[in-house]
Amino acid sequence: TQVYNFSSGPAMLPADVLRRAQHELCDWQGLGTSVMEISHRGKEFIQVAEEAEKDFRDLLQIPSNYKVLFCHGGGRGQFAGVPLNLLGDKTTADYVDGGYWASSAVKEAHKYCTPNVIDAKVTVDGLRAIKPMSEWQVSEDSAYLHYCPNETIDGIATHETPDFGDKVVVADYSSSILSHPLDISRFGVIYAGAQKNIGPAGLTLVIVREDLLGKAHKACPSILDYTVLNDNDSMFNTPPTFAWYLSGLVFKWLKEQGGVEAMDKTNRAKAELLYGVIDKSDFYRNDVAAANRSRMNVPFQLADSALDKLFLEESFAAGLHALKGHRVVGGMRASIYNAMPLEGVKALTDFMVDFERRHG
Ligand code: PLP
Repeated sequence: TQVYNFSSGPAMLPADVLRRAQHELCDWQGLGTSVMEISHRGKEFIQVAEEAEKDFRDLLQIPSNYKVLFCHGGGRGQFAGVPLNLLGDKTTADYVDGGYWASSAVKEAHKYCTPNVIDAKVTVDGLRAIKPMSEWQVSEDSAYLHYCPNETIDGIATHETPDFGDKVVVADYSSSILSHPLDISRFGVIYAGAQKNIGPAGLTLVIVREDLLGKAHKACPSILDYTVLNDNDSMFNTPPTFAWYLSGLVFKWLKEQGGVEAMDKTNRAKAELLYGVIDKSDFYRNDVAAANRSRMNVPFQLADSALDKLFLEESFAAGLHALKGHRVVGGMRASIYNAMPLEGVKALTDFMVDFERRHG
């Protein structure tokens, strides 16, 4: 059976990329060794690193006054990295709480400042929603405003483009980076763990506006210090070379597919198909308001949760893997990142319709 992996992360990678990596695994560029066994400072790897950065910049049209850093530490590393780099002499920052990950960032921020928490979670007509950006009460003395545009667990998203004047906007794009075009100039910092919509776990990308460098707290660990990382071309310590290389292959694949505009189109079609099947039936349900539905992570419940186990067993047997919802939400969740083709979502919705016919 053709397997489609709906894992929220580490997540499915494009089959073409995996095949290419497999092909060159033991003898990369005719060196008789793999890319993960060579020095990160040699000219061969430097070329991989530079090309990956260039392709990433091209894909998101990152302006030249932004630096791209290839880091360790994941999204959670940046929950500390952001305040340590950006607070300067300020003692507060605005944190918009729209779900599980935004609120985890708040917890970490408490170690470094007194966050002004903006609770953006609302219920509209019995559906979960996020307050529109115009209602976010930003404080004057905050060093920055932090939010998470796509909440991986809650399946809730803010699709608006931020417009907060001079306020430095920081966004955790871990689960939606490269899924649609982005106006980078509206942000001070964007960060994303690679393991959902980019490549293997272990790599974290940070996009930081140049003028925000040079302000790190003196206790900031060097490996989280944007200025140190930038001064060393992200090679202050040994970078996750294999993840960097593989992410570079994903960037090339994305360019071949038509870039983030093409991804956006397919991602919208995938989400429409899946939410459409959920909405059409009383057997399945999703409780997120239409305007805030995530196009990357689609949680859904079966009306009869006693059927959950059977649904998971049968879907797995049909090649539809990792559909179990996060433990704090329950039910099901289908993560449909860039690497998930439309056919994968079609296979899932066909299965769902058939399962309902047999058990509804
Ligand atoms: N932020 C978001 C939106 C996430 O989805 C996750 C992981 O699932 C994280 C942060 C945490 O990332 P990491 O496990 O790389 O620290």
